[in-house]
Amino acid sequence: MYQSNSLNGTELPDKTLCLTFDDGPGIHTPEIARFLFEHHIKATFFVVGKYAYHHPEILLQLKQMNHLIGNHTFEHPDMPYYVSADGNVLDQVLRTDTIIKPYVDSPNIYFRAPYGKWSAEVANELNQSILTLNHIGPFHWEIAGVDCYYWQNNWLVTDAAERYLTDIEREGRGIIVMHDDIADMDVVKPKNQTLDLLKILIPQLLELGYKFIRLDEIESVKKIAAEKLVFTLHNKKGKYISLINEFDLEVEGKPGNPNNLLQLEDLGYGKVAVKAANNLYFSTGGDKTFEVVLANKIIITENETFDLIPVNANGVILRCTNGNYLSVNHGKLTSQAQFIRQAAIFKFANHNLQVKNELTLNQKFLLFKKQVLFIKSKLLQKV
Ligand SMILES: [Zn+2]
Repeated sequence: MYQSNSLNGTELPDKTLCLTFDDGPGIHTPEIARFLFEHHIKATFFVVGKYAYHHPEILLQLKQMNHLIGNHTFEHPDMPYYVSADGNVLDQVLRTDTIIKPYVDSPNIYFRAPYGKWSAEVANELNQSILTLNHIGPFHWEIAGVDCYYWQNNWLVTDAAERYLTDIEREGRGIIVMHDDIADMDVVKPKNQTLDLLKILIPQLLELGYKFIRLDEIESVKKIAAEKLVFTLHNKKGKYISLINEFDLEVEGKPGNPNNLLQLEDLGYGKVAVKAANNLYFSTGGDKTFEVVLANKIIITENETFDLIPVNANGVILRCTNGNYLSVNHGKLTSQAQFIRQAAIFKFANHNLQVKNELTLNQKFLLFKKQVLFIKSKLLQKV
């Protein structure tokens, strides 16, 4: 789930750094990855989808060298502007997902916004989709990625390394941005000396006792990754798929019922398993003809496997392994729809986000109460 405010590395322990590289993969990426690997350093590479598409072999190398691959959109747009211009931000992250997923050694997708530009509106737009439930980000930084401007302005690599060292020593910890490639300024690409900069800087930092971790090793990020992600699915009549007893579901649930809460398991290849509020999987393997029940087992078989077909931003169709679609019949979830036109289109809602928004509303109410008390006290003073 996307956060309204960017995540950062301010809570990292002293002398702990996260090296992150943006805008690749490009011609320097394999050598940078190898140099770090040889120094036992794991880094995070936020790749641009349109470049990653052409270099699956580099993605594989990054994975093999224990680096984390993150999502940096497909075309590197300024997201707050892009969303205001009716650009499809979801498409930017999902197209990139498809390319990087086989090479990400984590069940989560880590994200950095181009230029670090972000807004609550972008977060909200991205959180509409069931496909971004496992996304974590955006990640900001403490030590900015100004290397590309040093190369643009023909800095000596020694001066650039010195400036990075000064910035790092000033902060003492944090997330560092560098550029293994440069997304927007093709004329600067041939001037990129970030590999040579690393060859000067890394031995100095190791000498000074700095340690390097991946972004997914930051304690607060681990906590976010461990959060249970729950959601609801409701039909066009506003009825929720809901647990009614140990093994049965109905599509009659009202909003706000904890029995509506579901969880998703990504099985790869667009296939998923869905868990009801009692942690049992949706299953087409029950005795009752076509009725979807809850499986009395923990192993996922073909009966518990569904194709997830997104419909626009927040719609979901589920197809069973026998080719039938899930539909609703007299308030029951069934697997008898033979054609997609008979399938139920369920609306997805991210429950974690709702809870967060409710908290914000509560906080707003407390603030309002405080303001009222303040005004009252002022009025009393006047009297
Ligand atoms: Zn970038």
